[in-house]
Amino acid sequence: MNSLFVQFYNTINNRYDLINGFSDTYDLCKTKGDFLWIDENKPYKLPIQKGTVYVSVCYLTQLYIVYQLAIMYPDIKFIVGGPVTNTNYWVGKTLIPKNINIITCTVEEYFGVPNFSYPWKLELPEIEKYDTINYMYTLDNYCYWQKCIYCSFKPIKPNSRTNIDFGFLNVEYTEKQVINLYAPSISPSKLYTLLNKLTYDKNIRYDIFLRADKKIKEVLKKLLIEKGDKFPFCKFFLGVEFPSNRMLKFMKKNNTVEDFLNIIEMLTEFGYGKQIIMHLPFILRWNNLESSDIIQLEQFLSKLDYNKLNFVFSVYPLEILLNTPLHNDYYIDIDEKLYRGPFCYGFKPLISKEQIDLSQQALNLLNNQPVDIYDYTNGFK
Ligand code: SF4
Repeated sequence: MNSLFVQFYNTINNRYDLINGFSDTYDLCKTKGDFLWIDENKPYKLPIQKGTVYVSVCYLTQLYIVYQLAIMYPDIKFIVGGPVTNTNYWVGKTLIPKNINIITCTVEEYFGVPNFSYPWKLELPEIEKYDTINYMYTLDNYCYWQKCIYCSFKPIKPNSRTNIDFGFLNVEYTEKQVINLYAPSISPSKLYTLLNKLTYDKNIRYDIFLRADKKIKEVLKKLLIEKGDKFPFCKFFLGVEFPSNRMLKFMKKNNTVEDFLNIIEMLTEFGYGKQIIMHLPFILRWNNLESSDIIQLEQFLSKLDYNKLNFVFSVYPLEILLNTPLHNDYYIDIDEKLYRGPFCYGFKPLISKEQIDLSQQALNLLNNQPVDIYDYTNGFK
């Protein structure tokens, strides 16, 4: 067939990360063309020279791959959909090739079957044994809070999965799986529906993004008590960003440090002995930190009980993304514009040496904790 449905994957540390954008429409796509997985870190080659390629694109990195393919294959029409259509970017350095067509409708709408409903399915690429596979089961493409000033999660078309069919439980893979039950921030009712129906399997981990919301805490506590040893193996991401009440107010998180500690302390108490990972993402390189913020960060860290709950930290430098309140409503000097290929998605703010020192103090505190830490700050360069 001269029609392909391309999905991307990458392999990091013996782990396959599948960006499986066509799982909800697998049966429909199968009638229109063949599936093709592309390893985003290897030279890309398509098995056709003419025709149509439908691509599910999550990130600008992958849109850049499509951009390169469109230049390599001028007789192929590339129909691009997926989360990247909700990403704010600007084509900065060159023009986008004419054979790329970015669509904001769903696959079903594109093929004229808006009431299409088939099971969620996943066809795995050729995977070596003994690897972990990661894949995604999307619940919502929007966050129910939506007000954090640095966040760009504002989809053109908010979409929410109402029919949760747990199709991922049918994936025949006997090694370790990590399933991202994806919502930028899951709502309390959806969290209850999901975790209530799942059960513990040491080989299946569920990754979930949470807010430190009182209702989320209540739902988790109820399920931890009710399910006991059957509580599923979960990694919870809780964006603490910079845990000082002054900074959280500035960010419009609508959470206080106490809210974060309440949910962490509850998980420490009721999740003790269970396979739970608490992943805390931090943001540094702000241009408005004060020394009192560093003291609050230190106090926050001193309250984490590393013996009773597994913690992982990740640390990101602040990036000012296009069309966020931070970009549009605050005046911030630009240090460097940020590009993926020709696509500009924001800028790195210019900050003073004093501010770099404060971020460095914060990073030193994080590095002194007995946890695995993914540091993406690149020395604040
Ligand atoms: S809670 Fe998370 S997803 Fe929601 S607006 Fe804030 S940063 Fe964005």
